[in-house]
Amino acid sequence: MFQHVALIGVGLIGSSLSHAMHRANLAARITACARSEATRATVRRLELADEVFEHVGDAVRGADLVILCTPVGTFGGLAAEIAPHLEKGAILTDAGSVKTAVIRDIGPHLPEHVHLVPGHPIAGTEFSGPESGFAELFDGRWTILTPLPDADEAAVEKLKAFWEACGSMVEIMTPEHHDLVLAVTSHVPHLIAYNIVGTVSDLERVTEKEVIKFSASGFRDFTRIAASDPTMWRDIFMNNKEAVLEILGRFTEDLAALQKAIRWGDGDALFDLFTQTRAIRRGIIDAGQETPAPDFGRKIPRGIAGQK
Ligand code: NAP
Repeated sequence: MFQHVALIGVGLIGSSLSHAMHRANLAARITACARSEATRATVRRLELADEVFEHVGDAVRGADLVILCTPVGTFGGLAAEIAPHLEKGAILTDAGSVKTAVIRDIGPHLPEHVHLVPGHPIAGTEFSGPESGFAELFDGRWTILTPLPDADEAAVEKLKAFWEACGSMVEIMTPEHHDLVLAVTSHVPHLIAYNIVGTVSDLERVTEKEVIKFSASGFRDFTRIAASDPTMWRDIFMNNKEAVLEILGRFTEDLAALQKAIRWGDGDALFDLFTQTRAIRRGIIDAGQETPAPDFGRKIPRGIAGQK
């Protein structure tokens, strides 16, 4: 599909893209850029790219598709660095979890002969780094593309076909709408998880040993989300302030209503809400975005299975 794809950043998303491209034979040549020698060594060992560079300009030279797979806060600086080295007609995209801010940061640096088509695969795990990727990460998941109104249609279609060949389903929307949807479905839930895990770990009357021992009663599932990469998530909250604060305002109001229901013994209000939320989970399972198996459908790692 592409002659030369350049992956900038080879963590969970970059390495998964490499595996998915190899699986479907989507690129004649893959180059990568990784800032640390350790990551470059892993890229070579796992053969995630034909060549891996320290300097981003070297990685993008000659590429007809360039994909930024680093934390969102790095995009502006990277765009400025790669701009003089980008091929005429190349497609530049990204995997960043926010979209208005990345367009703001990347857009001003790009030469006119490059097609910017921002994207975001709604697929991930709480693991990071070049060894955490796998070819199936995008299978059956959605990727959102947020092209600007004057985007080149052929470039958008080609990128859509690329993500579909990586196993993904593709939806196109405006960057503003993307940021609001993701604030609801991902960013605020992560913030709540970070907060509850922080609150619990600060409690003085419950020992740390008890928190870990009895974690299966709910806390454990929040810790999975709260184990996500700190740099990536700091950058998300720094760059999607407006939508996150709007949804957080609604969340705080609803939390106060729950507080009131508990205080006044309004069991019906609690029961009605819990019935509604159960139906939402059913809907996610029916849409194929989750399995009904316990423990979020994840296998218990070997060594833990069987332990009481
Ligand atoms: P990751 O596993 O932590 O990998 C990040 C990569 O970026 C690493 O190769 C890292 O290099 C490199 N990097 C970090 N800071 C950098 C800097 N200042 N300059 C240059 N390179 C830098 O992250 P990821 O999960 O793949 O996420 C990558 C992007 O995809 C992010 O924008 C994120 O918002 C988005 N995304 C993530 C998920 C998810 O669930 N994880 C899902 C969808 C989209 P080193 O290895 O040398 O440290």
